[in-house]
Amino acid sequence: MNIFYYDVAIPIPVRETFTYECKESIQVGSRVLVEFRKKKVVGHIAKEVLKKPNFRTIQISEILDEEPIFNSNDIEILFWLADYYQHPIGEVFDTFCPPILRKPVKRNIHSRNIQPEYKTFSNDKKITLNKEQTESLRILNKLDGFDPCLLYGVTGSGKTEIYLRLTDTYLSQGKSVLILVPEISLTPQLEDRFISRFGDNIGIYHSRKTAKQRYDIWERSKSGELKIVIGTRSAVLCPLNKLGVIIVDEEHDQSYKQHEGFRFSARDLGIKRAQVEGIPIVLGTATPSLQTLRLVQEKKYKETKLLKRANGSKPPGFITLDINDSQLESGIAKESLDAITNTLKENKQVLIFINRRGFSPLYECSSCRWTAECSSCDARLVFHHGLNRLICHRCDSAYGIPNKCPACNSSSLNLQGSGTERIELFLENYFKGTTIIRLDHDTTKKKGSLKQILEMVHKSESAILVGTQMLAKGHDFPRVELGIILNCDSGITSPDINSLEKISQLLIQVSGRVGRKENNGKVIIQTRYPEDKNLLELKSGDYLNFALNNLKQKKELCHPPYSAIALLRTTSPLAKNNINFLNQASNSIKLKSDMSIIGPIPSIIAKSRGNFRHHSIIQASSKIDLNKLIKNIIFLAGSWKETKKVKWYFDIDPIDFN
Ligand code: ADP
Ligand code: ZN
Ligand code: ZN
Repeated sequence: MNIFYYDVAIPIPVRETFTYECKESIQVGSRVLVEFRKKKVVGHIAKEVLKKPNFRTIQISEILDEEPIFNSNDIEILFWLADYYQHPIGEVFDTFCPPILRKPVKRNIHSRNIQPEYKTFSNDKKITLNKEQTESLRILNKLDGFDPCLLYGVTGSGKTEIYLRLTDTYLSQGKSVLILVPEISLTPQLEDRFISRFGDNIGIYHSRKTAKQRYDIWERSKSGELKIVIGTRSAVLCPLNKLGVIIVDEEHDQSYKQHEGFRFSARDLGIKRAQVEGIPIVLGTATPSLQTLRLVQEKKYKETKLLKRANGSKPPGFITLDINDSQLESGIAKESLDAITNTLKENKQVLIFINRRGFSPLYECSSCRWTAECSSCDARLVFHHGLNRLICHRCDSAYGIPNKCPACNSSSLNLQGSGTERIELFLENYFKGTTIIRLDHDTTKKKGSLKQILEMVHKSESAILVGTQMLAKGHDFPRVELGIILNCDSGITSPDINSLEKISQLLIQVSGRVGRKENNGKVIIQTRYPEDKNLLELKSGDYLNFALNNLKQKKELCHPPYSAIALLRTTSPLAKNNINFLNQASNSIKLKSDMSIIGPIPSIIAKSRGNFRHHSIIQASSKIDLNKLIKNIIFLAGSWKETKKVKWYFDIDPIDFN
């Protein structure tokens, strides 16, 4: 009798697969039920083992799938992910398995053979592409095989229109299209435009959908019924049948990087998928990442440009407003308030950007300077007016509000600084009767609330929109004529090596929401550093010029994207455990001359949820060398006594140095 052997990926934090045996042959990519540490768990057949192992193997308990849930391309990608990010293989498989199939259930493979006809609906066809768009579309339509291409288009230049036409091209060839967006808040707008063009047989896939909804889209994509899927990070491996092209909207956006658990970049994973599937990938943005710009410069990626707004209006320039001697009201300068008044008078909308939610980020005693801090994190508590609580934005703990200072018993406690909530309340009071709309994490938590807020923006005539970066990204708000940026100074002065890239993208993105319909938009930047060199350069609004200069400096300094970086992070209740572990790591490895390891350093957020945080920064000229070095550390760490005392992980291509 034949016995077959398989390596099974099991969702536990271990980097290996486990070998099992079975009397039947199973296809790689299928789910099985196996006994593991005396429990039955769902695992994935990752590989067939052709030679009988020289150790005892257990029988697979049950085969769950008649047909594999991952095909051979998927398997190749999943192994690449586990290797590149050095993440446990079982958890990698599990991440891209729809939640419902993580349970030991059999799949119901219905024979959905409906091949829907996607027609282009006429109501949208009025738009005639302009010259730039026509040329871009011509280039994109010609992409063939694995062929990454940057679609650089200034805000409002009609990139979405290009996505729609490109989708049309692929649908007419019987192929399917995957569109990635960085954030859930951008799905409704894209969804509406795709539905009005192609009808409502479109899959929307993101983490706020229920497990059942996501599973439904996953099955309908796999069966070939759905040909268009729009989604966030978690959609990147959506099993679309006959995938023709991947479109990554706002490719520069940092939200593509998962910042907890399995820290992969969905943009980079999308590129990997396109490579494995041998298909084109279009990276659309008004503010390309330095990484993408480098690859365009080196002719590894193609490029096409839309330099004009589709309706002929110009993106507004910036006005810097020196607030060093200004009296601010809830963070807003008098000049800004006057500009708001004028814009409202013209029946237009104002957008106020502030990178902070809640009412006030600081609750302080004016006698002894005590400040309210979280007892388990190195974080100040943020006062939330609506909740009447002090909240820790790291761990979500809520605290009551002391009316006496816990340190000196004084009752002169004050709220300092503003967040979106305070500004909203202030504006409601200052501009009585005006519609004030707040868009941030707190106002969009409830199901359906985001859609409602966006509808309200589109329905209102004059209004003030207040929000965090959620408001700055990608939206098409035709009535906004004035933008005000309240706190970009921390971005300008931050030592973080990514900060210039981040702040320049943010400023351009905010200006991209302004003056889209008509030509008299303006953006005010309130700043204490009006003479800052970078700010002066950015004021022109020429992102590309700024970014290319920035890129030149990165090359001179050998910073990413001209080198590869990983953070080795540790957490533990005792700081010295972290330091010992990181020192052990530094001392155990041999570095080539083009590598460095800096640390241990306390992380900017030095304590979180009761644990101290430290990290070391490892840098190498090549990603391959860095990967080897990391593997070596992981191997060696297995035998260090310091390893047992800390939690540790690698963050590859980090964007967050906090
Ligand atoms: P982007 O995605 O680049 O920010 P959009 O695709 O949202 O830009 O386009 C901005 C606005 O211009 C939209 O309202 C869109 O309908 C309109 N638009 C796009 N292309 C054209 C065109 N060729 N002629 C007229 N209007 C256009
Ligand atoms: Zn005090
Ligand atoms: Zn906390």
